[in-house]
Amino acid sequence: MRKRLGVAVAIVLVLGTVGALAAQRGQDTVQGHVAAAKAAAGKDYPNLFARLCAPPEPPAPAGGAARQAPAVPDRSTWHVEPAKVFDNLYFVGQSEYSAWAVTTSAGIIVIDSIFGYSVEDQVVGGLRKLGLDPTQIKYVIVSHGHSDHSGGAKFLQETFGARVILSAADWDLLDRAAEPRPKRDMVATDGLKLTLGDTTLTLHITPGHTLGTISTLVPVRDNGQPHVAAAWGGTLYNWVRNRAAYITPDRPDRFWFDTYIASARRFRDLAASAGADVVISNHTVYDESKTKIPALAKRKPGDPHPYVVGSDAVGRYLTVAEECARAGALRASGN
Ligand SMILES: [Zn+2]
Repeated sequence: MRKRLGVAVAIVLVLGTVGALAAQRGQDTVQGHVAAAKAAAGKDYPNLFARLCAPPEPPAPAGGAARQAPAVPDRSTWHVEPAKVFDNLYFVGQSEYSAWAVTTSAGIIVIDSIFGYSVEDQVVGGLRKLGLDPTQIKYVIVSHGHSDHSGGAKFLQETFGARVILSAADWDLLDRAAEPRPKRDMVATDGLKLTLGDTTLTLHITPGHTLGTISTLVPVRDNGQPHVAAAWGGTLYNWVRNRAAYITPDRPDRFWFDTYIASARRFRDLAASAGADVVISNHTVYDESKTKIPALAKRKPGDPHPYVVGSDAVGRYLTVAEECARAGALRASGN
């Protein structure tokens, strides 16, 4: 009897703690949403949580030195080696920014083209180092019109005749940028199926980071085993710092946060429906590529694949994005 009572007390204590945590997480407060995001991030995505849920730094001064295009940084600060990540997916990015190459039976699809200064070195040179032929690049999907992802597209278009794909809104965004840009080419619409040879990628328009950010679902294989990778196309809440480029009377903070939140929820559902069990990002910090690529190099036969996190963790990645946005929206409204 006493033993049974002890068990009952323990259960009540555990339930009480879980209940208190759930209540804290469920609260529509900054702390409540940060707690929900932290729980969702778990051990899988500490950097995503840290970057997205951190209280914002003060806005950058409009028109100040911070907005000037930086000179080409020294190669030693950004160059990294390329890596084979799946049977048909290769990392050909630089230290902080990812470009991904999907190989198919009829050529290569590149997702994000990194900067104009690094594309030839990392994407073209990277493919060659991996034994792949950059002249086979048929498509370049640019997740959004910021130079860390779009800057190399012009080179790939002009050098290899690759078709460049952006959303309509982000082609417009590129048109307003000062940097060299590709000629306007293919326009991604929501749900677009891009088929090359034996491989079909699905592109979804997920506005938030920009008005036309593309998030992509990519079928991949690990030693022949099929998986689906989800690439959330834009991560940070840019309007918090770069207000001049985002905030207008029609589009206050609330607009951007609400748009981002709706897209994160929608893409979470789409990724779940597609059976996505892998996360890849266009920033090496968010998907933990900085530790996963070295871990892959040490992987032994039969070991789990570090990028295969399971569908629950893919959903939690997008929950971090959503919940930190909810916290940010409350911060912006002064609550
Ligand atoms: Zn961006």
